[in-house]
Amino acid sequence: MTDPILLTPGPLTTRPATRQAMLRDWGSRDPAFVALTAELRARLLAVAQGEATHVCVPLQGSGTFIVEAAVATLVRPSDRLLVLVNGAYGERIAAIARRLGRPVAVLRWPEHRPVEPVEVAAALAADPGITHVALVHCETTTGLLNPLAEVAQAVAAAGRALLLDAMSSFGAIAIDLRAVPVTAVMASANKCLEGVPGIGFALVAREALARAAGVSPSLSLDLHEQWRGFEKDGQWRFTPPVQVVAALVEALRQLEAEGGPPARLARYRENLATLLAGMRRLGFEPYLDEAVQAPIIATFRVPTDRPFRFAAFYDALAARGFLVYPGKLTEAETFRIGCIGAVDRRDIERLLAAVAEVAGAAAAA
Ligand SMILES: *Cc1c(COP(=O)(O)O)cnc(C)c1O
Repeated sequence: MTDPILLTPGPLTTRPATRQAMLRDWGSRDPAFVALTAELRARLLAVAQGEATHVCVPLQGSGTFIVEAAVATLVRPSDRLLVLVNGAYGERIAAIARRLGRPVAVLRWPEHRPVEPVEVAAALAADPGITHVALVHCETTTGLLNPLAEVAQAVAAAGRALLLDAMSSFGAIAIDLRAVPVTAVMASANKCLEGVPGIGFALVAREALARAAGVSPSLSLDLHEQWRGFEKDGQWRFTPPVQVVAALVEALRQLEAEGGPPARLARYRENLATLLAGMRRLGFEPYLDEAVQAPIIATFRVPTDRPFRFAAFYDALAARGFLVYPGKLTEAETFRIGCIGAVDRRDIERLLAAVAEVAGAAAAA
């Protein structure tokens, strides 16, 4: 059996060189690993042009851990966080803040509609107690792209701080920290960076992080202390996932070799265009308007004009070497197919051939 192709939002298909980078042991306090960590932090910062203003703080764990750490470290009990929600990941940020006992306000839009910057500006004008705003860049629930530049402008104009969950966009969709005012960008290794799962990281405005000593109620999820640790001796405070770090550094070298985020975005766009056109041809209706669709993951409605069971569809595609993803919507029956990872148009074309083969079988099952 060859490895399956993962058409998911992550963990996803990685290149052989990325997996190969994990085939050795590293001493976590050895100068070679300290150098690797320094390269990791520098490369991540460079992806978003944050060298002059931000610092990179990697953290063990999945993406949710870094979001929780950033909220815990940057939002004080006396602050108030406004969460902009149009999907499950926005809801998760609000849940994190509530669990941490931080005051939270929520502004919601339907899952198929982008966050509306004018409404954000109005909410900030109406409530001077709000100190921070949280936005999900690409809402992976649907694959919708929220208008980062416009929201960041509205938040900065009101003098508030923006926390950006860029988990499923970082590395492909440009975030230029020289031009877009964001206090903290959170992302993880295993999405558009095409690394393996096990670390998240935040790019945090140096001044905001320097002021955040003692704010986090959690020891392990304290980004200020995690940063101080790196600044002191270049080492991780607690056991780092050394192989995951090695794989991510290799993946970042490959990102550079591919031509950086613009080249990666172009490949993902081609994947998405091929996928949408092919699925439409096969009678599957995309859930989102193309105008708000990011080239990250596409959501399709479960067909209603014929019997269709997602479980049977999934199994039949898996048997042909393709792993797709269930839906996560509250209001419509859907499933998802990712466009990211070490896959290109030819992989999507092979997937479409498999879908054509199995769609009838899934209907009958
Ligand atoms: C993947 C993802 C996360 C983090 O999820 P984990 O399962 O903890 O890695 C957070 N936000 C968004 C938008 C994501 O796509």
